[in-house]
Amino acid sequence: MNEKYFPLSKADLEKIAEQYPTPFYLYDEKGIIENVRRINAAFSVFPGYKNHFAVKALPNPYILKILAQEGLGADCSSYPELLLAEIAGIQGEDIMFSSNETPASEYEAARKMGAIINLDDISHIDFLEKAAGLPELISMRYNPGPVKKGNVIIGNPEEAKYGLTRGQLIRGFALLKEKGVKRFALHTMVASNELSIPYHIETARLLFTLAVEIKDRTGVRLECINLGGGVGIPYRPDQTPVDYETLAEGIQKVYGEILAPAGLVPMNICTEWGRAITGPYGWLVSRAIHKKEIYRNYIALDSCMADLMRPALYDAYHHISVPGKENDPLSEVYDVVGSLCENNDKFAIQRNLPVINVAADDGKGDFIVIHDAGAHGRAMGFNYNGKLRCGELLLRQDGSVIQIRRPETVADYFATLDFEGLTDAA
Ligand SMILES: *Cc1c(COP(=O)(O)O)cnc(C)c1O
Repeated sequence: MNEKYFPLSKADLEKIAEQYPTPFYLYDEKGIIENVRRINAAFSVFPGYKNHFAVKALPNPYILKILAQEGLGADCSSYPELLLAEIAGIQGEDIMFSSNETPASEYEAARKMGAIINLDDISHIDFLEKAAGLPELISMRYNPGPVKKGNVIIGNPEEAKYGLTRGQLIRGFALLKEKGVKRFALHTMVASNELSIPYHIETARLLFTLAVEIKDRTGVRLECINLGGGVGIPYRPDQTPVDYETLAEGIQKVYGEILAPAGLVPMNICTEWGRAITGPYGWLVSRAIHKKEIYRNYIALDSCMADLMRPALYDAYHHISVPGKENDPLSEVYDVVGSLCENNDKFAIQRNLPVINVAADDGKGDFIVIHDAGAHGRAMGFNYNGKLRCGELLLRQDGSVIQIRRPETVADYFATLDFEGLTDAA
């Protein structure tokens, strides 16, 4: 079980909405900081522990800056993400560049910034050398592929486009050494939104075992093992959050069992968590504007799947609450929908909720809060159907609220069109 919290009351929201009309994202600085401190404390058992926050989860420099102040680095996979990290003051090896199918220009930029480049294929050794030269420190990404019998929890990396095979990694590290690379790191990322602690410990065991094999077969002594992202959050109220202490202890145990006897300690351990860092501390706040009763009962919001795609894309559950009606009976069954011309634009399907008032009932309509939207939320949005994405607000630790991204305007939507050519042609 986990408690679905929202840090503001209905009265707070009414006040905020006067200045910043719905819909908007709201992030809770205090919640994020407390969460990060718990993670850092649990993982402080490992030397040089650092989480490189996956920028794609919440690409806002205000958030990155808060995280940087708590000692986090950034995990980037594109040029604009590298720039965001730089703007937030994250530099050099605090930036992990875990890209795939990377253009030469982006390798050049990452190299110039001194980021840790994480190669996604063996052919990229030559590609990077030609594009930007080989840096002193190189990381490579492991794809475990087909798995041993009974190891069902690993999922199906065999169908994933990422990373190098075991054999390629051995050859790759030998080749890098030959080419004069001095420092080495190993990375993997095999799952997404995984709540199982044994699963993540198993991933660590896989990497630690491989680190020993790399040392035995190539003489390369890794200095860092990056366990990647993919730690889940409990989107459903009946799910249990990952206990960081138990996870860190479990990884520490295999660290002792595998790396210590091989003479591979101390080994720096790092991660690339995104979702687990900010996910539960962000909400999409909308208002109910229409109610519709046909074969099902619908509540329509002033936001749509352009603001939050996860339900449509992954069939993902996002908890919904109605501020001011927290204790009302869940007497209704609604589909909660947006205004996009796609029938999968549904934030919730056949969800038990209290009676919801819409704009037509009382002029304002209830606030509808969609939970766990602090990662892979607004970032995944798009402009299909002429939908303009909402802005982002930050609830600061002192209780004040600031806007950290304004909503999109029609001018933004038209910004990439060349109207001059249109006039000439006419
Ligand atoms: C997306 C991604 C992450 C972050 O994943 P979360 O599920 O948000 O923890 C980390 N590393 C890489 C390479 C990714 O692509």
